[in-house]
Amino acid sequence: MGSVQIVTTILAAAITAVAVWLAVRAVLKMVAVIRLGQPAPERFTDKVTRARTMLVETAGHTRMLKWGVVGAAHWFVMVGFVVLSLLVLEAYFEVVSPTGGLPIIGHWTIFGLATEVITVLSVVGILVLMAIRLRNRPSRPGGRSRFTGSTMWQGYFVEWIVLLVLIFGLVIRGFKVATDHFEYPFWATPVSHAVGAVLPDWQDGTSVAAVIKIIISMTWLIVISLNVTMGVAWHRFLAFPNIFFKREPARPAGSGLGALRPMTSQGKPLDFEEADPEKDQFGVAHVEQFSWKGLLDFSTCTECGRCQSQCPAWNTGKPLSPKLLILSLRDHAYAKAPYLLAGGGKDLTGEEKATQAQLAHLDVLALAEADKPLIGTAEEGGVIDPDVLWSCTTCGACVEQCPVDIEHVDHIVDMRRYQVLIESSFPSEAGVMLRNLENKGNPWGAPQNTREDWTKGLDFEVPRVGEVDDFEYLFWVGCAGAFEDRAKKTTRAVATLLNEAGVKFAILGEGETCSGDPARRIGNEFVFQMLAQQNVETLNEAFEGREKAKRKIVATCPHCFNTLGNEYGQLGGEFEVVHHTQLLAHLVSTGKLTPVQPVDGGVTYHDPCYLGRHNRVFAAPREVLGDAIEGDLTEMPRNSERSFCCGAGGARMWMEEKIGKRINVDRVEEAMATGARTVAVGCPFCSTMLSDGVNGKGAGEQVEVIDVATVLLRSVKPEQPQGGKETAPVGG
Ligand code: SF4
Ligand code: SF4
Repeated sequence: MGSVQIVTTILAAAITAVAVWLAVRAVLKMVAVIRLGQPAPERFTDKVTRARTMLVETAGHTRMLKWGVVGAAHWFVMVGFVVLSLLVLEAYFEVVSPTGGLPIIGHWTIFGLATEVITVLSVVGILVLMAIRLRNRPSRPGGRSRFTGSTMWQGYFVEWIVLLVLIFGLVIRGFKVATDHFEYPFWATPVSHAVGAVLPDWQDGTSVAAVIKIIISMTWLIVISLNVTMGVAWHRFLAFPNIFFKREPARPAGSGLGALRPMTSQGKPLDFEEADPEKDQFGVAHVEQFSWKGLLDFSTCTECGRCQSQCPAWNTGKPLSPKLLILSLRDHAYAKAPYLLAGGGKDLTGEEKATQAQLAHLDVLALAEADKPLIGTAEEGGVIDPDVLWSCTTCGACVEQCPVDIEHVDHIVDMRRYQVLIESSFPSEAGVMLRNLENKGNPWGAPQNTREDWTKGLDFEVPRVGEVDDFEYLFWVGCAGAFEDRAKKTTRAVATLLNEAGVKFAILGEGETCSGDPARRIGNEFVFQMLAQQNVETLNEAFEGREKAKRKIVATCPHCFNTLGNEYGQLGGEFEVVHHTQLLAHLVSTGKLTPVQPVDGGVTYHDPCYLGRHNRVFAAPREVLGDAIEGDLTEMPRNSERSFCCGAGGARMWMEEKIGKRINVDRVEEAMATGARTVAVGCPFCSTMLSDGVNGKGAGEQVEVIDVATVLLRSVKPEQPQGGKETAPVGG
């Protein structure tokens, strides 16, 4: 070993020792913080599916590849990080000897070829990612982008480190070529040979380049170890467990979509008949009351901003960004952690758990952080502003886009639950809706005995459950479908089409009550459970003696469709629920319904969040429209998985929209820009929001908002009076 190698070896060993020590300390700290969260035993089920999903999502980059070039570039950089870690390891042999290499595989041509190809593609990949970050930097003129609010220096730092490590990998090989110690043939490593052609014949060059590569790599490790909240770097490790422990690993996309998590205390679902707010946790009031998976979510966020770029609240000037919400929770959790780890925290009656001695030597900043209310205005020092919390429509666009499967909606609703159930703190206008649900069983407060009024004037009898036993489908009408003028037309259209097709169906009539969706999304789990239990009982009775496959329900409202199909199982109600567009598509494709007169004038379709993103029903409504309209459907730029919310979900239907541009107006402008005269929808709330938007633009005479069922009915029975345009204003 020459003198240069003695120096390079000592340098490499010293910086590696420091970096590893700091990294171990950082990992222990992160594990300790994540373990502060509440138990989540359900995350350990079905490990085989979890492992498979994790491998598919990471190796296949299933989320990222939806972003085209950036996804492909990131894939190469990820593969480069994993495979080229071997070359960092090899550098330790090269600092000791310029002719050194990895034992066994270090001389295989195939290894030389693979690492050469991956290096080149990773260089291209990281340059693309750097260009994208620079082009979208928030500091550029007029620069609002998905990176707004992200810690930009961390992104630049990580990208430069990756680029330098790759370059020095080629320089090491170049010196080996120049000094004739390179064993791989030219055909397998042409770039290394090209680099070698311009480097001098310097025997120690390999060791010097190797120690520089190690110093760069270890500098990265030291910096990220000193910054445990640096998700842009840590996600390289945390993404794997975060995806592994996602809520529903078997779901093809968006594990945190569809059903909401039940309310839990100590990891067990809460039963309101026995729950006690002094003994059981009601929602989340403090950051440590999230589950450990929640804290893992916060730690894993890469600050990529894909969620933010799709969020309807953020895109219409509201203070909510799902990314910034996650970052605020992350920073708060880590800043409060020393206090919690010292034994601090409040019990469920609000009393401090730690003794004075335990907190005596605590950092004053940690104590100050512990004093912050989780929900509060800037003046109150709150971590999350109430306007942020209540701006969410639970549309799921954030969950859909997140490449590391963070479950934003669950966290938002958990915080809402505490605010509603314990603090009684929520937008006051929603109070009327909650009172109506409790007292009348529907958000509008309409008398229960008017639930069947929509059947009046139909030229056929609508059977009730109990009057007939041999129905195939129970037609779940929903509150909007029963009480709201515009939605009633959809209900009548669906009933007419089912009757026309000879489908045996029956309704519950006055036996139906609200599914509970708005109560659950606003955070009132108590009212949700009350309504849901009543409905489950009624439905179980209606289907008594039938196996699950024959407990069929058709619903016109995607919120009911989602709640009955995905959430009633949590309360013992197992049903086969379809949306009316699915049933209608089936009836058309099997020839039971025949469109005879195509609807003309151009038609576009708005995907309701709870039908599309939350439940993956994208094709059926398009199939129905494809059969019923003249020409092709005109798609809006934001459609299917990337559809833009109408603004009504998450109980926002019953809250005033006081900040920024109205979400429905934004969506209507997009729909009108297609030039279509008909905007087809599959949800009564979308229908209301978009109709209001169209009328607000003064375009009610030119553009009509109608349900897919009404479009089909016009095509199947063109002679039937359709009851005029569905543009009447609604209450609520
Ligand atoms: S659910 Fe929708 S509105 Fe709520 S944070 Fe996510 S993207 Fe924004
Ligand atoms: S939450 Fe997910 S999508 Fe949003 S910034 Fe973080 S990693 Fe990206």
